[in-house]
Amino acid sequence: MTAHIGRHLISIDDLDRAGIERILDRAESFAEVSGREIKKVPALRGRTVVNLFYESSTRTSSSFELAAKRLSADVVSIRSAGSSVDKGESLKDTVQTLSAYDPAAIVIRSPHAGAAGLVAGWTPASVVNAGDGKHEHPTQALLDVFTLRRKLGALDGVNIWIVGDVLHSRVARSDILAFTRMGAKVTVAGPPTLLPREIEALGCAARATLDGIEQADVVYVLRMQHERMREAFVPSLREYAARYQISSARLRADQILMHPGPVNRGVELSADVIDSPQALIVDQVKAGVAVRMAVLYELLAGAPILAAAA
Ligand code: ASP
Repeated sequence: MTAHIGRHLISIDDLDRAGIERILDRAESFAEVSGREIKKVPALRGRTVVNLFYESSTRTSSSFELAAKRLSADVVSIRSAGSSVDKGESLKDTVQTLSAYDPAAIVIRSPHAGAAGLVAGWTPASVVNAGDGKHEHPTQALLDVFTLRRKLGALDGVNIWIVGDVLHSRVARSDILAFTRMGAKVTVAGPPTLLPREIEALGCAARATLDGIEQADVVYVLRMQHERMREAFVPSLREYAARYQISSARLRADQILMHPGPVNRGVELSADVIDSPQALIVDQVKAGVAVRMAVLYELLAGAPILAAAA
């Protein structure tokens, strides 16, 4: 299969399985760089990467920034969480202004689904979606696959349960697409009010209870996304925790636990499992830098090889 990697990364749908594998293989070599004392390669020297974050972020913004710097790019990071930029026109103005610096890539996080796709139409730069509202977060899914592949070798036939607030989760959408593309079997589980209708169309099964979770090889827990809830989706967080919280009582010691962070301790996860050896939460964060280096590299420096092969 030819690896398909386009000019932008907006959705996991932009990648076929070979494209995902190519990025993960590249990430393995960058993980090695991250282990060196001098964690820098000259791949993007002289090129500019703009990080544009319109929503709060710790992990994603820091790892994109480090990734671009370790590739020797010039990096401009703009944060406007809490600003009133919520109109398409204002975003367009900002992107066109920043495009005057001739960036090779714009990494965008926005509270609005579809924002990254719009930006791709407004700039000659490559656009990477770092999370757009409830829509997608493709680099999170890639780092999740990277983390699992390192732990398990491959995802083929692996049984993965994604638990919690699926409705508001861009991570769930990107993960379902990426995990199934890599051969895993995915089930989403949570309160019916937090399971989007027709989620099965993405290729997963859906359950309103945790019955059967003992069959999962991997339990991927989502954060309760309070900031996206405009109404009460669950009677109370206590009741949610009683029925859906993942704790050592609900998890076997040989099941792998993942969470994209930030965790609401005591809500979707109990403290005892967060800090247990079966949790890969810190490995996920570590994988972020190498995977984002690989994404930037493949989009910006890998293109000529692809064009020559095509
Ligand atoms: N950090 C992830 C995201 O930006 C997950 C979360 O916020 O719950 O979507």
